[in-house]
Amino acid sequence: MRFNNNASHCMFIGNRRLDEVIAQDTRELEQIGGSFRAIAERMRAIHEWVRGTPYSNVKGKDFDAAVKIIGLGLTKGFQGCPFGCNCTSSDDVYTISNRTGKKLTLNPMTAHLAEEHHLLEKDNEYGIGAIEFYKGFMPEGSCSGELYIDDRKVHKLKNGGIIRANFGKLLVDFR
Ligand SMILES: [Zn+2]
Repeated sequence: MRFNNNASHCMFIGNRRLDEVIAQDTRELEQIGGSFRAIAERMRAIHEWVRGTPYSNVKGKDFDAAVKIIGLGLTKGFQGCPFGCNCTSSDDVYTISNRTGKKLTLNPMTAHLAEEHHLLEKDNEYGIGAIEFYKGFMPEGSCSGELYIDDRKVHKLKNGGIIRANFGKLLVDFR
């Protein structure tokens, strides 16, 4: 399948190789028992909640314990699939992880790319790694491994406080 990294002005994977990006995220998901489909469903759930709610009721609000909505992008126009599928996307939603401080922009295309093409973008505002997504954005208990952020278990972070994580240090413990 032909991939046009330049179908977006900000590119989809920077200067990386497509096969290496997909292989790395696939490996990470196997490590923690996660899936591209679960990531896509999570992206869609957040996006649909925001689009279906008056803006004044979502800006600065928590979607849930993991994810806060920062704002909406309305001016960028439509984005087509870089693999040539007949679908387009708009309506960016800006989010931040309450756990890790990672910012991530979501839209229907980021969900489509994850589900249909196993692609998580890189090196732009839509970019994230698979484990990084699980750490910052997935509900507690959604994978089989225990994820740590700087030695602290994600599920210990419920009692408040925003953790600014250093992702250079990655710890995954398996039960
Ligand atoms: Zn596609």
